[in-house]
Amino acid sequence: MAPTLPTAPQTFQVYDVTLRDGSQQEGMQLSVNDKLRIAAYLDEFGVGFIEGGWPGSNPKDSEFFRRATSGELELRNAELVAFGMTRRVGGRAADDPLIAALRDSGARVATLVAKSHVGHVANALHTTLEENLAMLRDSVSHLRSEGMRVIIDAEHFFDGYRLDGAYALEVVRTAAEAGAEAVVLCDTNGGMLPSWMGEVVSAAVELGAPIGIHCHNDSGCAVANTLAAVEAGAMHVQGCVNGYGERTGNADIISVVANLELKYGWKVLPEGNLAEATRTAQAIAEITNVPAGPRRAYIGTSAFAHKAGLHASAIKVDPNLYQHVDPALVGNDMRMLVSDMAGRANIQIKGEQLGFDLSDRTLAAELTDRVKEKELQGYTFDAADASFELLMRAQLGQLPDVFTIKHWTTTSFADGENDADIVSEAVVKLVAQRQVQYFVGEGNGPVNALDMALRRALTPVYPAVDGYELTDYRVRILDGSSGTEASVRVLIDTTNGERTWTTVGVGTNVIEASWEALCDAYRYGLIHLLENTVEPVGARGAASPVDALA
Ligand SMILES: [Zn+2]
Repeated sequence: MAPTLPTAPQTFQVYDVTLRDGSQQEGMQLSVNDKLRIAAYLDEFGVGFIEGGWPGSNPKDSEFFRRATSGELELRNAELVAFGMTRRVGGRAADDPLIAALRDSGARVATLVAKSHVGHVANALHTTLEENLAMLRDSVSHLRSEGMRVIIDAEHFFDGYRLDGAYALEVVRTAAEAGAEAVVLCDTNGGMLPSWMGEVVSAAVELGAPIGIHCHNDSGCAVANTLAAVEAGAMHVQGCVNGYGERTGNADIISVVANLELKYGWKVLPEGNLAEATRTAQAIAEITNVPAGPRRAYIGTSAFAHKAGLHASAIKVDPNLYQHVDPALVGNDMRMLVSDMAGRANIQIKGEQLGFDLSDRTLAAELTDRVKEKELQGYTFDAADASFELLMRAQLGQLPDVFTIKHWTTTSFADGENDADIVSEAVVKLVAQRQVQYFVGEGNGPVNALDMALRRALTPVYPAVDGYELTDYRVRILDGSSGTEASVRVLIDTTNGERTWTTVGVGTNVIEASWEALCDAYRYGLIHLLENTVEPVGARGAASPVDALA
């Protein structure tokens, strides 16, 4: 017998908290660039809201909002949300500096955390229950009067409800009456069970307030609790990509969304976007440098992997006998290896986005094979668009020769008697614009020294490289199961002050992998520099304008 499925509410909100709550995960360090790139992926995936952080609480979050709202982040699907808290005890929202930071963040939506647990009002805020409600009312009305949309996160709601249900519900009512468009019930300690959700969420829904849900995974039930809340009437779900978050993490937003779409049959993302789930989750994992984990539901590399053997032939005849959904629906693959870019159609789309004509099926198929081959070696191109473009150009015969490396070497040694002063030197010999360049670089490590030497060798021919800055450098040790020699993957972010690009290198050691990513970084920057400074010659054809310079 088929289960009875809940019907979708008229409005339903998918709200991502990866950039704030998710980034609390132990060991995760996100730069402003990382956050901007993650936000772009989330928007492309189609979430309705992206919580960017807490402007005014730390310089990094303030910078993120400044850059995100001044043109660096173009959102097509999502609203950027500034997170903060209700005004200070005894003050006025209109005079509160942190409320002012939300107002001035450039975001059109603010989410305020509010206390709904009587114990936390007394012991954390040190104020009265009445003042807590007044703070909530004043903060919401003020931001609404300033033209912002407001969402309330009712912190510790479920534990608070158990202690004093009437007060917890009063918080919900107050927030809704003051103009909050969603009041989000937070299982902050993450200890709820699905069968406990219904009664509490229903009580809040019955107030007539629009209810949201925010679950942590301490009982291992974050996704299940989220669905239970939705079934009880919640119209807004919060979560993090790959279940990131402190302790055991937040509800995995992709699992939640996939369940709503594939199990309930609801439409909560733009049409067709769920098929981007795997690509999105894996690309974000590359940026955070925190792997999604092979066994993660829907998007993990093992999520639809089967051991060959007894069932293999039956799987071939009818794969649906051995899987709960068609993996293609979430962009995953039944095979062991997920290829982020797999599929000719994806490659063609990607190529077109970068301005290349890949309509020739044979060409596209050859490029696809090349990408798969490289991915087997450990490359990842979803998070390294610049290296993908170079690979594509090489395959299409449109890779201008901006420089050719003749040789490179690097050595590290202790300088003098003090072993702590390790110095690295590098030598790079290359040919650029028919000139041989031979330079030495020194740095605090071999990669830094190589960068210095390469930069020096290129500067006489291309003075612009002086303005290139390496903004991020990430190393991933590849697991041994891939059966290749490669063991290290390096991703490098480079900026010329106007835009940032990412390149990838793979090798048996970190220096080799870094060198490849480094050369790609300069090569990509120079190709674009030269293409933009020569006369446009229409579409990029076989005779690239740069060939003339080389
Ligand atoms: Zn949380």
